[in-house]
Amino acid sequence: MRNSPQALTRGLSPFGIDASAFRQGLLHWYGLHKRDLPWRRTTDPYRIWISEIMLQQTRVAAVLPYYERFLTRFPSVESLADAPEQELLHAWAGLGYYSRARNAQKAARRIVELGRFPSDREGIRALPGIGEYTSAAVASIAFQIKAAALDGNVLRVLSRVTAEPGDIGSTDVRARFRILADKLIDPARPGDFNQAMMELGATICLPSQPQCLLCPVEAQCKALRIGRQSEFPIKAKKVSNGQVEHRLLLIEKGGSLLLWQRPPDSRRMAGFWELPQADQLPGACVCRVVGEFRHTIVNTTYRFEVAEASIEIADSGFSWVAREKINEVPLSTTAKKALACL
Ligand code: SF4
Repeated sequence: MRNSPQALTRGLSPFGIDASAFRQGLLHWYGLHKRDLPWRRTTDPYRIWISEIMLQQTRVAAVLPYYERFLTRFPSVESLADAPEQELLHAWAGLGYYSRARNAQKAARRIVELGRFPSDREGIRALPGIGEYTSAAVASIAFQIKAAALDGNVLRVLSRVTAEPGDIGSTDVRARFRILADKLIDPARPGDFNQAMMELGATICLPSQPQCLLCPVEAQCKALRIGRQSEFPIKAKKVSNGQVEHRLLLIEKGGSLLLWQRPPDSRRMAGFWELPQADQLPGACVCRVVGEFRHTIVNTTYRFEVAEASIEIADSGFSWVAREKINEVPLSTTAKKALACL
């Protein structure tokens, strides 16, 4: 029988899981097998928070080269609060989702105003760029607050452990999992418990081919019992928005490239530099196509064609940037991909 949120809050056994055995097995395994990651060697809330912001929608391996470099450049919340925007974006360039960097700076300024890093869940949650997941992760890891953090890895583990038949994206399923996670979390070691759940999802309970033989909670896993691990989580099919075509122009004159900078209020990539698109410069003369690439944003795939072109006089919204200075400005990912076609 499916546990309803109401039934769970009445204290019934959550999905038939033995919470004590679950956390014991999980934490024992975590102690033996956790990866040595730089943000696990600190109790500094600033460093833990930065790691959580970087890890939002980004894999550990992609974050590692940026994390220490970023903290060397901005070693304190004050230095991040004071950073010039172009320097901040440059330090973040390559990690993507640049609104995270801007929100981190807004949050740093707020923390400086407060005079200290907030040490309660609500205070952390109120900072710009921090949602349910990140506030729970920072609160539990930095301050040992009992708050279950549900990221994609944790949701996958829970969906398999319970063999949840509902859509993982639905509000009902999320509500059930929140209640279940709140019951499972170890009140004595909430930070380790959250990290162990994420670690389990990232290294053992993999999206395809989960390593059930190595799993510390296999005795509690319903999907394994019924032999259907790979069927979970259940996801409702997304409608793809298809493919959209663009042409980017590489216009070079006297060793400088023609670029434009996104305005500060741009919805995406504000402040980043872009190559002109053909429809922005109707007066440009296209010489030859030098390559193409695809770039996906959310569920839309854009096909970009890259062409060398020339122009007599550039419009006022464009700037000539010397080739040797190109790496000093924050370039958008599409501009980088286009330049790589040369
Ligand atoms: S037993 Fe397998 S499917 Fe179940 S939680 Fe462990 S790794 Fe995931």
